[in-house]
Amino acid sequence: MLPEIDKEAEHVERVKSVECARCNAPGPSLAYETITGQRFSCVALCKKCLCDDAWLANRIIAAKALQTTVHRIVCGKTHSQTNRTAR
Ligand SMILES: [Zn+2]
Repeated sequence: MLPEIDKEAEHVERVKSVECARCNAPGPSLAYETITGQRFSCVALCKKCLCDDAWLANRIIAAKALQTTVHRIVCGKTHSQTNRTAR
C-alpha cells in the first residue's frame, strides 16, 4: 500500500491526464489546487483557463470543476460521455 504522499502524487498525475474541466481542451492538463496545499483538491485546467484569475476566484465554479475532474478520473469518461463542464 502506497504512503499517503505517494497517493497524492498519483492522484495529481491522474488529474493531469484528463481534459480541462472548464473548456474541455484535451489533456494533458495542469493540476490547479483549489485549496492551497491540498493536492486532492486539484482540478484539471488547460494553460489558458489556469490564467483566468476571475474564473478561478469563483468558489462555486471551482467546486464544480473539482466535481468534473474527479468524475472523469473515477468513471474514466471523457467530455463527450459525461457532458459535464464547469462554467
Ligand atoms: Zn481550458
